Amino acid sequence: MTDLADLTIAEAGAGLRKGEFSSVDLLDAVTRRASITEAQLHAYLTLDAKGARAAAEAADAAFADGDVAGPLQGIPIALKDNMCTKGVTTTASSQILAGWKPPYDATVVRRLKEAGAVLTGKTNLDEFAMGSSTENSAYGETRNPWNPDHVPGGSSGGSAATVAAGSAFGALGSDTGGSIRQPAALCGVVGMKPTYGLVSRYGLIAFASSLDQIGPFSRTVADSAVILDAIAGWDRRDSTSIDGPVPNLAGSLDRGVKELRVGIVTELMGEGIDPQVKAAVSTTASQLEAAGAELVEVSLPSSEYALSAYYLIAPAECSANLARFDGVRYGHRSQIEGTTEDMMAHSRAEGFGPEVIRRILLGTYALSAGYYDAFYGQAQRVRTLVRTDFAEAYEKVDVLVSPTSPTTAFRVGERAADPIAMYYSDVCTIPSNLAGDPAISVPIGVDDTGLPIGFQIMAPALGEEIMYQVASAVESIAGFTQRAVLASSDVVAP
Ligand code: GLN
Repeated sequence: MTDLADLTIAEAGAGLRKGEFSSVDLLDAVTRRASITEAQLHAYLTLDAKGARAAAEAADAAFADGDVAGPLQGIPIALKDNMCTKGVTTTASSQILAGWKPPYDATVVRRLKEAGAVLTGKTNLDEFAMGSSTENSAYGETRNPWNPDHVPGGSSGGSAATVAAGSAFGALGSDTGGSIRQPAALCGVVGMKPTYGLVSRYGLIAFASSLDQIGPFSRTVADSAVILDAIAGWDRRDSTSIDGPVPNLAGSLDRGVKELRVGIVTELMGEGIDPQVKAAVSTTASQLEAAGAELVEVSLPSSEYALSAYYLIAPAECSANLARFDGVRYGHRSQIEGTTEDMMAHSRAEGFGPEVIRRILLGTYALSAGYYDAFYGQAQRVRTLVRTDFAEAYEKVDVLVSPTSPTTAFRVGERAADPIAMYYSDVCTIPSNLAGDPAISVPIGVDDTGLPIGFQIMAPALGEEIMYQVASAVESIAGFTQRAVLASSDVVAP
């Protein structure tokens, strides 16, 4: 018999509605899975056993009353630990927020609760979402469920790992430069970054506000659409949220790709991309062509500078956003005696980890008088060029495709001492963040060491419908059904 923890959201939801099992059964299944895998993975920072149990019982009671809120009712979902959850510890994986319990729910959390989802707990991330491997967490790194000697990617590595391992049916992450799509690729699951403004960020601990977006992790494209549908839409509490209709995703799946124009990005298929990743992406692109799409090569000439521009813009914005962690309003306060200024300086020095400190210093420097125009101003001009490249490309094609990550999952420790090598992990994902456009990663295969490869589909702003249409075609063409080694029910604790 299949373990319930291995079902998709669609299958689990169908079983719930037919009364084949209960939401409490689903929660027990993922909790049992977590009790086996967590010793190796450390995907969760907090498991909210009590809250989840109450939500599952409430969902079962609603089913018994014939009251069905929607496809997520009764489904266990995990949350990245940079989203505020009322009364449940929220740390952003930083010592500075150790033990902090927010007094309110983020809008996405509230929406998932309203949809009847069962929120299992909070997943590990790189501190304040700064990183690509989840090794920058102040609470220890997360490992990859396909091979625990490797990283799960980051910064939403805990969310990716939990969905791959079966300790949640879906999860939310945040993506500033690739932090949903890159770990999704490295963990063999689907990960999606919505159009900037489609999902409210109220209650998301801010990293770089002109780039941050919340989006779903899932095991299938259809499940991704269901989660996005539950969280998308205008929110008066987020002034950057779009006041307009949300995409109709259910209608976009299984439509095929006949006559769609698919552009493969030249610059993201060149130097620095692992040959096995490149080969797998080319094969899938040719299969799209065989399925009726028109495949063309498209150049995004400014994408070469996107990574450098991002690593000025993101630190600049983070230096402003993280100023609020001063030992007065939130979290850690230094015990060292001195002036108020000393207290703030010591609190920050003690509370922030090395990567966060590096970003704040870089960002403060890039914004300082005399350097502003040469660094931040120049980066903003590059950002405009990247946007223009995308706009021109979308006059010729409906979607763009590329690898999601230049390599498969690297070994734990391999890039930890080399920030530039780590930053390069996001070379394929950052351009869509700068443009504010949606993008999704779909698993298409494994390399010769058995580690998953992700295929990225990018679309113009609010082009989620066509993007999911292509994503669902890629999913069925690739036929990738393999599961992570640690997602097997016969895995026992080491
Ligand atoms: N890895 C990138 C960074 O460290 C992206 C992070 C993210 O998307 N949150 O900035």
